[in-house]
Amino acid sequence: MPVKAVFLDRDGTLNEDPGYLGEPDKVVLLPGVADALSKLKNKYNFLLIVVSNQSGISRGLITSEQVDAVNSKISELLALKNTKIDAFYYCPAHPEFSSEEECICRKPSPYMILKAKEVFDIDLSSSYLIGDFATDIQSGIQAGVKSILLKTEKFKDSISILHNQNIFPSFVAENITDAYNFIIKDSHGDNLC
Ligand SMILES: [Mg+2]
Repeated sequence: MPVKAVFLDRDGTLNEDPGYLGEPDKVVLLPGVADALSKLKNKYNFLLIVVSNQSGISRGLITSEQVDAVNSKISELLALKNTKIDAFYYCPAHPEFSSEEECICRKPSPYMILKAKEVFDIDLSSSYLIGDFATDIQSGIQAGVKSILLKTEKFKDSISILHNQNIFPSFVAENITDAYNFIIKDSHGDNLC
């Protein structure tokens, strides 16, 4: 069986996004996230990999220790639903504050997805990405996974950015539950019962 994964943006996809989230106490999972991730992992054997831009680090607004603490808090909350993220990848860089080389990991680059593919030997053609912004979708498409754009407040901007580049998500989801349903249906083809 090929190893399949769902790549997940973090802020605005898994948890509320107040901007440069650095305090674990402020982590609030979005509705349906824990349930969807629990089923993807426990019922359908997807690896769950977070791929997140955290330019707040290079901007000097938050530290990598704070990002790790927020990630730990997310893990803690998901453990209550008997599920876990298999790996958290994040890119601390931003073009205004970092070198070109340091920015190599930053979405829209597929770098973090490709890195995880090597580490976990993931079959990208049977994998998915869920995100709430254009750069998530660009990164997923470049990596060769099916990419799902969530309808959040960033949706209009995202669609216009993607449209200008003539690229489109595989699916637009109302929320994470809708994204989950798409993945299960799509990955099972017509055999869904
Ligand atoms: Mg996001």
